Amino acid sequence: MADKISLASNFIQNAIEEDLKNGKYTEGVHTRFPPEPNGYLHIGHAKSICLNFGLAELFGGKCNIRFDDTNPAKEDVEYVDSIQADVKWLGFTWDDRKFYASDYFGKLYDYAVQLIRAGKAYVCDLTGEEIRQYRGTLTEPGRESPYRNRSVEENLELFEKMKNGEFENGSHVLRAKIDMASPNIAMRDPVLYRIAHTEHHRTGNKWCIYPMYDFAHPLSDAIEGITHSVCTLEFEDHRPLYNWILESLGFDVNTRPRQIEFARLNLTNTVMSKRKLRLLVEKGYVSGWDDPRMPTISGLRRRGYTAKAIRSFCEDIGVAKSNSLVDAGMLEHAVREDLNAKADRVMAILYPVKVVITNYPEGKIEYLKADNNPNSDTNRFVPFGRDIFIESEDFMEEPPKKFFRLKPGGEVRLKYSYIIKCEEVVKNDDGSIKEIRCTYDPDSKEGGATAGRKVKGTLHWVESSTALDAEVRLYDYLFKTDEKGDTPDDFLSAVNPDSLKVIQSKIEPSVKYAAAGTKYQFLRQGYFCVDNDTTFEKPVFNRVVGLRDSWAKEQKK
Ligand code: ATP
Ligand code: MG
Repeated sequence: MADKISLASNFIQNAIEEDLKNGKYTEGVHTRFPPEPNGYLHIGHAKSICLNFGLAELFGGKCNIRFDDTNPAKEDVEYVDSIQADVKWLGFTWDDRKFYASDYFGKLYDYAVQLIRAGKAYVCDLTGEEIRQYRGTLTEPGRESPYRNRSVEENLELFEKMKNGEFENGSHVLRAKIDMASPNIAMRDPVLYRIAHTEHHRTGNKWCIYPMYDFAHPLSDAIEGITHSVCTLEFEDHRPLYNWILESLGFDVNTRPRQIEFARLNLTNTVMSKRKLRLLVEKGYVSGWDDPRMPTISGLRRRGYTAKAIRSFCEDIGVAKSNSLVDAGMLEHAVREDLNAKADRVMAILYPVKVVITNYPEGKIEYLKADNNPNSDTNRFVPFGRDIFIESEDFMEEPPKKFFRLKPGGEVRLKYSYIIKCEEVVKNDDGSIKEIRCTYDPDSKEGGATAGRKVKGTLHWVESSTALDAEVRLYDYLFKTDEKGDTPDDFLSAVNPDSLKVIQSKIEPSVKYAAAGTKYQFLRQGYFCVDNDTTFEKPVFNRVVGLRDSWAKEQKK
């Protein structure tokens, strides 16, 4: 595979090498990607996917996919399906290693019982609010729950009753018995199990108690034989708890999984949390999770971003131990690099103005040879005729000095075609341009007597009778600013109201049967991708990214 992952050497890689050198994990490196199926994956998840699958590949190990489905109220099979499609599209495979935390509900229950028997967990009757009050603060120790010293027998009985559905939601929880005075709040008797009389998308109504992430995660890792459990920085404080659970249940330190944290990806001009992305969908700011403005993998794919570009972006940004904000321009740069190499060039006129070539025979259409891509020597033939469209900004009636495009009395070359000269401008009643009347030099096309004649400007164009009428969707950032207010939902008021602009454009006929997902470079305009909404009657294109790479330019300064 040409685009094999070659993660730049990083601290996670070093930690793994260190472990292997010390004789740990003799069975090989085993990682996992553990999404919660409560939304669509975004570019931040892509980073985690590239990292986890990439590390496994690098060390000749394995990577599992595991749905962390311990929160039935928010989860859905729609998300399970989209997550798998996205990981595959990015180019990774888990072979037969697709798991669900819910596969382990039985085992997790048994582990909880084992903790109770060891005197390391208890059933607590405090309400959620009381538990928070008892927990203390960063500067004050917590207080012990009055239920903390229940006997093992009583705890076993109550926990079983919890499981059997004899209690209401919120009336009891199972807590680890660790240390209410620990400086680490995560260690102050964290909740391990809660009651939720909620149907689960896989286990139905079998369970009415569900394990908390902090309990399910280390144990799912251990059950699967994960060696390195790579997660984001906010779990750093939970690492002692991760280890405490495994230690308390007797997992050997030389084989049990090790948690390593890295900084999550944040990108400018967007939001990244699934909660926020869901709000954008639900409140109609975007057309869905796969709206081409969304930072979701499905949105980026629909927009025309390639898997290769996303992977090379993830590689370029590397892995760090402190949070930072990555410029969206860097992702666009990766997309441009990939599409520049791959996308065929075609001519499209986004904002058309009509040009009539008065000395060209009426009704005649000739086919001119055009090359598809500087990286290949394939060609196509584009129709040329008396009536064509050019880009309205390529004509100026009263141009400034160095304007080398079309102007009254001036000449330009039409790409792959003839030299034309502007003779007259015909206006509508409102003063707008109706058509530009030109003459052409019949000997100026390739092979002709005056083919070598130099004129300063070269314009792209589309013949009018054969042109496709296409809808083109131009996108801008969903957020123009990264200041999104103080409260969690303030970000909605910062949504860019002009993030989508729809125009009607003219495109050469060669793209007529292009399937959704096909990418082109529209000459001089940027990269465009056929949208899912496209039909033969009405082609629809998304602008992927413009041609100008301001990010790369900045780097060179
Ligand atoms: P969100 O806050 O966006 O909902 P999450 O962490 O709750 O994200 P999960 O489905 O639990 O989403 O995440 C699956 C994996 O992806 C986790 O290992 C998580 O650490 C990782 N991940 C999530 N967001 C990012 C990000 N922005 N950068 C890197 N990794 C991420
Ligand atoms: Mg989560």
